[in-house]
Amino acid sequence: MTATTAARGYSQYVQGGMNATVSADFESGWYAANAAAAFERPRLTFDLDVDVCVIGGGLAGLTVAREVARRGWSVAVLEARRVAWNASSRNSGFVLPGFGADVMRMVERVGVDRAKELWKLSEAGVEYVRAAIRDTEMPGVDPVPGWLDVSKVDNGDELLAVATLLGQDFGAEIEGWPTERVRTLLKTNFYFHGIHYPTAFHIHALNYARGLANAALAAGATIFEETPALAIDPAGVRKRIATPSGRMRAAHVVLAGNVHLGPLVPRLAATVLPITGHVAVTAPLGERLADAITYRGAVSDARLANDHYRIVGGDRLMWAGSANLWPRGRRSAARAFKAAIERIYPQLAPIEIEHVWSGVMGFSMHRMPQVGEVAPGLWLASAFGAHGLNTTAMAGELIARAITEGDDRWRLFLPYELVWAGGTVGRAVRRVSTWTRWVNDDLAAHLARRREAEQQRQNAEASIAIPPPPPSEPEPQSPAAVPLAAEVEAVLHQAARRARGKKGDRRPAGSAQGRETAS
Ligand SMILES: Cc1cc2nc3c(=O)[nH]c(=O)nc-3n(C[C@H](O)[C@H](O)[C@H](O)COP(=O)(O)OP(=O)(O)OC[C@H]3O[C@@H](n4cnc5c(N)ncnc54)[C@H](O)[C@@H]3O)c2cc1C
Repeated sequence: MTATTAARGYSQYVQGGMNATVSADFESGWYAANAAAAFERPRLTFDLDVDVCVIGGGLAGLTVAREVARRGWSVAVLEARRVAWNASSRNSGFVLPGFGADVMRMVERVGVDRAKELWKLSEAGVEYVRAAIRDTEMPGVDPVPGWLDVSKVDNGDELLAVATLLGQDFGAEIEGWPTERVRTLLKTNFYFHGIHYPTAFHIHALNYARGLANAALAAGATIFEETPALAIDPAGVRKRIATPSGRMRAAHVVLAGNVHLGPLVPRLAATVLPITGHVAVTAPLGERLADAITYRGAVSDARLANDHYRIVGGDRLMWAGSANLWPRGRRSAARAFKAAIERIYPQLAPIEIEHVWSGVMGFSMHRMPQVGEVAPGLWLASAFGAHGLNTTAMAGELIARAITEGDDRWRLFLPYELVWAGGTVGRAVRRVSTWTRWVNDDLAAHLARRREAEQQRQNAEASIAIPPPPPSEPEPQSPAAVPLAAEVEAVLHQAARRARGKKGDRRPAGSAQGRETAS
């Protein structure tokens, strides 16, 4: 790619063409209204030589920069817009162990020992965030302990298997909570049992991102805002990076641009699937919130990022999920959130949504982050999905150690290779299959509640000695719940394969991480 072509891509980008939906809605958001301090850095307007050039000033790039600078190397961050303007300051603030990939799938793919090592790295990411907040006395981040991952279906065996793997095999600090305990703290009959993670926590995301940027500066890193990297010449010992008004030369370049890297490295960018996520904050709910939800940690109620929420500002709910699939307007997202909250907690109605915003996440096909050296001196820290607070911290530290100390633990991610995300058709496949899984999840949850209600009715009847009713009609199965997802996925996969056949194999070449099919 020439600098001119990339510049054309970026002029659209900087003017907000590609990202207009995520840029316009944030300034009025709850985080912005409660921000500790603003953050502003100059553009790069001269030529500069450094040891490490980091492209992207989100959490991944900022962590790399801080850790490289702490080890005494010179490092500069190029940020096309403002530091952490996208996912890194718009997220829901859950700092959790683990990855976007399901832990059982991780074991299937890499075996229990390697999965355990990866899990430990993810926990180190949580500890990194905790320590960074504490050691730098970050203002306004307000960490609150605990994460409760509850089930909307009565799937005790599945939950026990996960709890056993995490607790016994991985040595993770978790607690299995029975349905009664969950419902004592979350007053809704939507939930059954859950896994509690006492060492997880939630934070004010914007204040953390700005605090991290300040910590990187304090460690000696340089940050340039409104300075897009337009082209890279990665050949040679000193790599060259072109920006609109200055050039950089660096021994190492770290690509930490998430879904926005496109014009710079299109073949790498094609391995990341952008998905828009929405977050809402209600108006103050007063006492009725304290009655409905007495748990102060973060709550998730589905593995696939359906609904997750936490209490903020004393008596407001911050709610994310449900509306996540397609980019949508603020009004439509607010309606979806209002409906979701009132469905799960009818006692909170009527809900008024005061803030809604969106951000774009980058997913790999296997839902694990892309971490490693893709060519000599060219590093990738990308695709952290909806699980980026701990994993950007982990990846940032891992890459900084790899560059400065030759630490090669990033190789633990080698089984998770760069996989083409399928272009337009592949994206449609992924979205439709995700949607059908959400629909199926909802259906399964509905059936679980009906089963429970039926059981309670039968128990009540038995206890007053009325003869039991004739056996009820067999419960309607979901309309071929699993086949629906599988069918749609199969049809669209065929289309994707046909499209790929026409275009030839567009997966990135020259990757040190090799290739594979999507999981
Ligand atoms: C709505 C939402 C809710 C979320 N909730 C959670 C949560 O509760 N917990 C959790 O763990 N994770 C959550 N996430 C995910 C998490 O926020 C992200 O995974 C993480 O912030 C990604 O960080 P990043 O640095 O990779 O990317 P980004 O924050 O996207 O930063 C990348 C930066 O690179 C810059 N850039 C790109 N290309 C160039 C270039 N050529 N030159 C210069 N700069 C460039 C961009 O301008 C951008 O600022 C959520 C995300 C969203 C959107």
